[in-house]
Amino acid sequence: MKKYSLLDLPFSECKKIFEQLQLKKFVAKQIFHWIYQKNIYDFDKMSNISLNSRKIIKQNFMISDAKIIKISSDEKKETFKFLLQFPDKNSIEMVAMHFKYGWSICLSSQVGCNMKCKFCASGNKTKVRNLKPSEFILQYILAKKYISNLFHKNITNIVIMGIGEPFDNFDNLITTLKIFTNPFGLAIGPKHITISTCGICPKILELAKLMPKINLAVSFHGPNDKIRSELMPINNVYNCDLLIKTCKKYCSLTKNRITLEYLLLDNVNDHEKHALELIKRIKGLNCYVNLIPYNQIQKSNFIRSAKIEKFFDILKRNQILVKIRQERGNAIEAACGQLRILHGQ
Ligand code: SF4
Repeated sequence: MKKYSLLDLPFSECKKIFEQLQLKKFVAKQIFHWIYQKNIYDFDKMSNISLNSRKIIKQNFMISDAKIIKISSDEKKETFKFLLQFPDKNSIEMVAMHFKYGWSICLSSQVGCNMKCKFCASGNKTKVRNLKPSEFILQYILAKKYISNLFHKNITNIVIMGIGEPFDNFDNLITTLKIFTNPFGLAIGPKHITISTCGICPKILELAKLMPKINLAVSFHGPNDKIRSELMPINNVYNCDLLIKTCKKYCSLTKNRITLEYLLLDNVNDHEKHALELIKRIKGLNCYVNLIPYNQIQKSNFIRSAKIEKFFDILKRNQILVKIRQERGNAIEAACGQLRILHGQ
């Protein structure tokens, strides 16, 4: 008999199946509490659930698993990169980073990615499959356990910005967000979660309707269609004008401020004229711009820009909210996709 994977189920769905199995309503709450609040995954240890209910649960449910096969960290022990393997031998990476405000984790959303962004190591690896909600949740659970054992600290922020395009795995993403934010699930405030997209416009608006409190970051990287299409083929489908128009609509629907990511590449998108073009294009958009220094990857034709400060100053002078992203994990190849590629997966 095929068993339900408990970590794939949002609370409402779990309750529905429990009711169909004639289990008492409160058992769903109890099991969520054991898993997500007490970190107990063995049904036999869930002592306040009756033996008969446990028997039914064991017959019908399982808890998925994954194992960490490699961990790298920087010297200061402020960044940890994990290579995680699932039972089907597919692997992904996740990164935990310590900031002033606490620990943040960057999760992957797919094995590989089909978006083919030219600057991205993951973009070289075609999508193998989407991650299931349980596989998002396991990344969080395993990193949380590791950080808590080492530093006795919790993970306070989640960004879905690792391997994959989260909006290309939309249904599983939404289920995951429900489990992350449900008070009986991981009970993480939506303001502590950020989704990063390469700019899939219809899904930006769907997120605004389904999960309006989640933060959104959009990878922009090019001030015009010519540059952006060269860097990000998705721009041939959803161009700069449409993307900015969609972002404005998202902001008016959610009242959120959006983050625009802008990776600075030498002689590609880092000239003064590009800064001025960007300023003009994002006029009237409630956003702040996050300038990202390029982290050189193997076999890359791109070079890190030396004009980051100048670009920053131009934006600042023109009243754009802007910051330069704090660099993390360069020494451990913590740029998107690198650990997995180096590991030969
Ligand atoms: S940057 Fe993100 S969307 Fe683009 S190829 Fe890499 S993983 Fe995919």
